[in-house]
Amino acid sequence: MNNLLLELNEQQLAAVTITDRPLRIVAGAGSGKTKVITTKIAYLIEEMKIPAYKILAVTFTNKAAREMRDRVNNIIPNLTSNPHISTFHAWCSRILREEFELINLSKNFLIIDQGDQVAIIRNLINEHFSHLPELKKYTEKKIIYRIGNWKNELISPIEAIEDCYSGLERAIATLYQKYEEYLKTINSIDFNDLQVLVFKIFNENSETLEKWRNRYDYVMVDEFQDTNDLQFDLIKFLTRDKNNLTVVGDPDQTIYSWRGAKVDIILNFNKTFTNGVSITLNENYRSTQKILDLANDFINNNKNREEKEIFTNNQAGDAPVVKECESRNDEARYVTLKIKELIQQGYEYKDIFVLYRLNAWSQEFEKEFQNNKIPFQLIGGIRFKDRRVIKEANAFLRTLATQDEQAVERVLKSIPKVGDVTIKKLKEKAMDMNVSLYDLIVNEDELHINQVSKHLNNIREVLAKSVDVYKESKNIRMTLQFMLIESGYIKKLTDTEKKEDISYIDSLYDQLENFDKSYQTEVNEEGTEKIISYLQEEALLNSDADDIEAQKVTLLTVHAAKGLENKVVFVVGLNQDIFPGRLSSNSAREIEEERRTLYVAVTRAEEKLFITYIKGEFSFISQAELAPSKFIKEFNQDLYSFEGRYQKSINPFANMNSTTNALHQKQAKNVDGYEKDDIVEHMIFGEGVVIEVNGPTMKVAFSSSYGVMPMSVHDATISKK
Ligand code: ATP
Ligand code: MG
Repeated sequence: MNNLLLELNEQQLAAVTITDRPLRIVAGAGSGKTKVITTKIAYLIEEMKIPAYKILAVTFTNKAAREMRDRVNNIIPNLTSNPHISTFHAWCSRILREEFELINLSKNFLIIDQGDQVAIIRNLINEHFSHLPELKKYTEKKIIYRIGNWKNELISPIEAIEDCYSGLERAIATLYQKYEEYLKTINSIDFNDLQVLVFKIFNENSETLEKWRNRYDYVMVDEFQDTNDLQFDLIKFLTRDKNNLTVVGDPDQTIYSWRGAKVDIILNFNKTFTNGVSITLNENYRSTQKILDLANDFINNNKNREEKEIFTNNQAGDAPVVKECESRNDEARYVTLKIKELIQQGYEYKDIFVLYRLNAWSQEFEKEFQNNKIPFQLIGGIRFKDRRVIKEANAFLRTLATQDEQAVERVLKSIPKVGDVTIKKLKEKAMDMNVSLYDLIVNEDELHINQVSKHLNNIREVLAKSVDVYKESKNIRMTLQFMLIESGYIKKLTDTEKKEDISYIDSLYDQLENFDKSYQTEVNEEGTEKIISYLQEEALLNSDADDIEAQKVTLLTVHAAKGLENKVVFVVGLNQDIFPGRLSSNSAREIEEERRTLYVAVTRAEEKLFITYIKGEFSFISQAELAPSKFIKEFNQDLYSFEGRYQKSINPFANMNSTTNALHQKQAKNVDGYEKDDIVEHMIFGEGVVIEVNGPTMKVAFSSSYGVMPMSVHDATISKK
């Protein structure tokens, strides 16, 4: 133990050994906040003789909780009992497992996820409110969000109904009531309930509260800057007047305000705990000087913050690298190449993180790493290929190219208004008639499918027409887009507000667009060979044979990387409308949150930091040509080294101020005579307007739901009006 304490600096030592007053530690990234918590757990057990199980430490992500547990196990391996280290939600579910009777649940209650919630709400609407078309305007997610708000404000369904001022509001409040009743009948609670119910128990049962107050002799909260009011209430219940609380956090790393996190809670800590003490930690032990300089300089762009003084005794190290790439694929190849170099220099795969803002960004890396035999693991995400939406979208392509039954069935399942019963009947009919499912739907007399369901005509038409679309365009992406939109698939995703799923589809469009571009079509290629070779490539990627090595590069979102660190960090996709995202470009407050998110990303790096962005390639995710994030311009160019697309390059951000933005130069004319603002007509997508022409490609905005699309100026399916 003493050795452990010797490692600490003066402030850290105080933070560990002060145990008789509420304590707040505010400090920058990498200054040892989590180390203080883990060392303090050991100190409480070994020096203060507190039994391990009487210690509670909470944090925000599962991975951070696991990391904290590992660190504690390393310090004191032979514990007879374990301290309770977990996320807020897991801790609450632990309490409910013991106190379920107080809230009228039976022992084996279930916690339902958002998918279940959507399905329940949809059924309740159909059952009770089909006479209220206004309600249809509300998506299930909005209703769930509304219900969540009522719950968080501790407003019961009855109170919600009484408070209503309009018929529609009353309908939603009644839905809330029915939803609660339904959950009771299936002995379930939702994610939101976890914290709310524990609050209720503590609030209404003083004996139970006393029991839990006695259960924990000491309570610690990591990442305290991300606590919301309800969570702070729970902490107060446990620790008020007990002088047994330590919280640590960094206001510059608040990245969950969209979930109600309030940075004021940490800033005003001493108003609640009036005898509390505050400690700041100023020494960063994690990063090299140059990484730290870039991070600190960057976060200064946030106006609404208190400045901190942070220094490090670490080596200067290499300057962070900012790299411009020409496409998403180029970015993945660059990272792959760098990883190979790093391995040669003696780094191991496990020393490397690749961080991105959106889960959908991982896909090029998964592909490139797999092709280059770089072992990797994806945290908090399903591999791109294994995502349901991607499998469904690929089923559309398979239906077109090979017409196999499995694919057709998957397509049927994925479109609106076609259910299991219809599919079963169709299969039986196909069997009776001795034709394939595809032929029954597309090529036989429509009378047959009409006998099964009236809702099959649309998919019949879409499938038939897609053959022509592909024949004319020879463009897989465009054909798929046609199929997904016209079949109602996209609308179904939008209606259920599956924003993330839509970004996966957009990402797939990007990938297909690249495939379309790189594929050499044989002159006399009549059929669907190109689609088949695309699908074959996909299938190869899926045969995940060599995943045995324990040593892996880790791919994860910035949010999931909170609290973690690694020797080498790549922050990728630093593009406008990606990071910061398209929706956050609106308010200064949201931009500041995105800036903090990037601060979290760059401060994960210990020795080497690479930041990459793409310039010029069109992406469906940003609905525009990818341009460098505004954050790139905010990096002080003296503090990083720039790598252009080619070996020798001039940093475009040098000597540039925000008003002279040289990034948006456009070409006006091209060989086929299209010009910006031309009105054009497309065979499938209808009328559109040219918004940009760039050599052989142009971008066209269609008035239909297709939005903006890149097009070849030689494309025969489009003409000037
Ligand atoms: P974040 O804000 O990112 O969560 P943090 O403040 O929690 O960061 P830690 O993860 O606790 O920082 O520490 C960063 C790194 O510095 C860890 O590898 C930790 O072991 C090391 N470290 C912290 N304090 C010391 C110290 N006194 N001596 C040596 N290493 C230290
Ligand atoms: Mg930490």
